[in-house]
Amino acid sequence: MNYSSIQNQDPEVYDLIKKEEQRQKEGLEMIPSESYASSAVLEAAGSIFNNKYAENYPGKRYYGGCVNVDLVERLCQKRAREAFGVGKEYHVNVQPYSGSPANLAVYIALLDFGDPIMALRLDHGGHLTHGNPINLSGRAFRFIHYEVDAEKETLNYDEIAALARERRPKLIVSGFTSYPRIIDFKKMHDIAKDVGAISMADISHIAGLIVGGVHPSPFPFTDVVTTTTHKTLRGPRGAMIFCKSEYKEKIDKGVFPGMQGGPHEHTIAGIAVALKEAMKPEFREYAEQVVKNSKALAASLLSEGLKLVSGGSDNHLLMIDLRPFGPGRGIFMEKALEAAEISVNKQPIPNDPSPPYYPSGVRLGTAPLTSRGMKEAELEKAGALVARIVKEFATTEMPEDKEKRSEAVKEFVSTLEDSLVIKEVKAQVKALATKFPVPGID
Ligand SMILES: *Cc1c(COP(=O)(O)O)cnc(C)c1O
Repeated sequence: MNYSSIQNQDPEVYDLIKKEEQRQKEGLEMIPSESYASSAVLEAAGSIFNNKYAENYPGKRYYGGCVNVDLVERLCQKRAREAFGVGKEYHVNVQPYSGSPANLAVYIALLDFGDPIMALRLDHGGHLTHGNPINLSGRAFRFIHYEVDAEKETLNYDEIAALARERRPKLIVSGFTSYPRIIDFKKMHDIAKDVGAISMADISHIAGLIVGGVHPSPFPFTDVVTTTTHKTLRGPRGAMIFCKSEYKEKIDKGVFPGMQGGPHEHTIAGIAVALKEAMKPEFREYAEQVVKNSKALAASLLSEGLKLVSGGSDNHLLMIDLRPFGPGRGIFMEKALEAAEISVNKQPIPNDPSPPYYPSGVRLGTAPLTSRGMKEAELEKAGALVARIVKEFATTEMPEDKEKRSEAVKEFVSTLEDSLVIKEVKAQVKALATKFPVPGID
């Protein structure tokens, strides 16, 4: 990317972009909701489509001068259907600003406030917009939460079906934020149909794996499919809603004017570019490699004696269960790994004894490193580096007294500065990372 105009006009922002470039190049980005967008995607998303107002949909805008945005939005819709292999039986809305407003738009489009919705609990892998009480979804609708099996830590479809029959939700959400296994979308759809509910799949995390053919698709049966475009799909930050044609009018109205105003046509242009890339054979190779890398990472962590939620991974992500060390230590691991320039996120695990801000797990994903060209050998190495940090630092106790926790974290972070283990791992991280180019930067 060329930032010469910013460099001339705004050295402060330019400096921050350059620092972030360096961070993204020299570190190991292992957050499962991230990946690297290509230069072409970034150029489209930063293009002059930014300047245009275009409320409503192609052919019926509230503004003049929409000839080109109409074409780019229609092109994006066409490519979205092609990439996911769906025909005219599905409509697709490409205007949602991001995954959260997309989900809320679906709820307000198809339901009344207070209606019952079924979804997976947040600490079992569900998203905030799947009915967390601190999110608008949980305040405006009556959520009934299902859980993963206490022992296997995977979905138990019989239990979900029984809960659905008992509670009769109007909509059932499948698709998660933190679930390392394959989702049987057909079973989830059948459970919904059995109780007369609308089936919704939120494939935000795994959209790229579905397009790449390494995770079963929720098409052509699921009623509504929402997805972000910036996770494994490697597009700009945005979202799409697919729906069966019968829901087209309601969904479109739910997005605009129900939830949003003017669409971000520059983002839509970027999504169109990302979808074209996602239909190339190289993308299929990337998706296959993401899963292979995830399995290699899991094997590496298991061989170091660490415990993984559900015992491993079938997709792009996995979670280390830190409970064997003690509760509430996810934040220490996030900080220690960050000090060594490995980015992960602390994550609640099923039946976590600690609250979400001090959870007992960390979540790791392989999409960003795979998009840099890393393969099994590099992920095994990354796993060994992660394990070294975990074993060194997860022994630090999290105080039970809530008042003392933030102080404990501060103190922990201050000890990292002089840690030889951090210094060593950081040097190895940099040596490994800088061997691989970064899409959009190099
Ligand atoms: C990331 C995610 C979202 C929300 O996306 P944002 O773009 O962050 O608003 C919604 N649902 C799931 C399952 C996600 O993983």
